[in-house]
Formats: sequence, structure tokens, C-alpha cells
Amino acid sequence: MCNCIICNKSNDGIIVYGRKICIECEKKIINTDLNTDFYLFYNKCIRKKLVKGYVKNTL
Ligand SMILES: [Zn+2]
Repeated sequence: MCNCIICNKSNDGIIVYGRKICIECEKKIINTDLNTDFYLFYNKCIRKKLVKGYVKNTL
């Protein structure tokens, strides 16, 4: 139910804006240069999920 939004595994993690990001992915993000593909992917991921959630909550 509460899987990481990036790797979709149920590892321990943090909740960001109501979405879970596991420790493994958090580490990757922290160690990732802002211009890398992973960061862009992460950003896209978050935005997609947030927008979806936002739309759902609004309706
Ligand atoms: Zn993850």
C-alpha cells in the first residue's frame, strides 16, 4: 500500500508530500547531480503523482 513512488518497493523510507520515497532512492537523489537523468526522472515522477493526487482531491 505504501510503496516507494520511484522504485515501487516497500522499503523503509520517508514521506514527501504524502508520497513515499524509500531510503535507497533518497540516497540516490541526495547523491545525484541535478542535471542527471535520474533527477529528471524523479522530478517527473513526483510531479505526475502530485498532480494526480491534487486533481483527485480537488474533484
Ligand atoms: Zn525507492
